[in-house]
Amino acid sequence: MATMTANRAAIQTRVIPTRDELDIMAQAAREFNAYGKTTIRCPRCGSEFKHYYIGTREIFTCTADNCIRIVARGI
Ligand SMILES: [Zn+2]
Repeated sequence: MATMTANRAAIQTRVIPTRDELDIMAQAAREFNAYGKTTIRCPRCGSEFKHYYIGTREIFTCTADNCIRIVARGI
């Protein structure tokens, strides 16, 4: 079972935002969609947000490792 520790780095942690954090992220996402950037920072750690697409999925995440992140499915 020692291999579980070795493989831990490959596991991506997805931290679910609280409702308040989600409100802030939603506002930041609106600014990204309107202006292509946002001055809003992560309410949990103060880092910048990152916004990008993978296929039809819209990813909105804090730039810090293992911080809050949301994934929305596009149309
Ligand atoms: Zn953060």
